[in-house]
Amino acid sequence: SVPAAMASGLSAGARRGLLIKGGAALEEIGAAKTVAFDKTGTLTEGRPKVTDVLPAPDTSDWDLLAYAAAVEQGSSHPLAKAVLAEAAARGIATPPASEQGAVPGKAVTATVAGRNVSVGSPRHAAGSGADMGRFAGEITRLESEGKTAVVVVVGGAAAGVLALRDEPRGDAASGVAALTRLGVRSVMLTGDNARTGAAIAEGLGLDVKAELLPDDKLREIAALRSVGSVVMVGDGINDAPALAAASVGVAMGGGTDVALETADAAVLKDRVSGVAELVGLSRSTMANVK
Ligand code: ADP
Ligand code: MG
Repeated sequence: SVPAAMASGLSAGARRGLLIKGGAALEEIGAAKTVAFDKTGTLTEGRPKVTDVLPAPDTSDWDLLAYAAAVEQGSSHPLAKAVLAEAAARGIATPPASEQGAVPGKAVTATVAGRNVSVGSPRHAAGSGADMGRFAGEITRLESEGKTAVVVVVGGAAAGVLALRDEPRGDAASGVAALTRLGVRSVMLTGDNARTGAAIAEGLGLDVKAELLPDDKLREIAALRSVGSVVMVGDGINDAPALAAASVGVAMGGGTDVALETADAAVLKDRVSGVAELVGLSRSTMANVK
């Protein structure tokens, strides 16, 4: 019967760490035309590490990291944790900061030793009036390597660049390939810059939409829905509205509480391949229903 087939599909999923909130979600997942993945913490591990420290000639590695750490101590962003970890590993004490602020999706700011300091995207630094000419070539190179370059601006001048890299999950490429075999298109949505997004996406075999603010992610989901059913996979950081707007929202195992509440399904243990398994489970279950 219909309910029995659904119930056995839901319990078969649960045994494999695929939690689905009900029959409607189970049915919809298999109809997906597109799966939209958040990048940071979903396709990647969400644990960036500082890979390059490039100070301006009048600045030392030490001072650059000290300024950056001072500003980042007020932020819970994964990039902030990476900067603080690198400073600590080098024995750099974090200087005190005041008037801490954030420009969402762009930068964090503070006053350090009486000077205005920001740490953020090259675009944000250039927009604030800092002369980036000296660093332009290096930033392009770092981003082409799939790294995120952030600029430390001290008193209006670029004091240097830090590069950070967040590794793709071990099964990200095979998980995307499995979706492709099922006839489902995969897209990456990221707030990161276009070159970094493209470098990561190229290795995984999916399309990329970059430089998206949380509202832009929402608009991308709406545009994709005009083509057909959309599954959005995310961790709830900057993507909870997009999870809610998709035909089916899927939280990854390490997801935040907000992701688990908002989503219609969850993949435990952070397996990207779990998304393709959800599509397969839905289709086999619906074949038994019909
Ligand atoms: P993602 O979608 O990859 O999680 P976000 O929307 O959180 O990206 O941030 C987009 C960009 O804004 C980052 O790649 C970085 O350039 C800049 N940014 C945001 N927060 C910070 C921060 N705390 N420190 C440095 N840069 C930041
Ligand atoms: Mg994010």
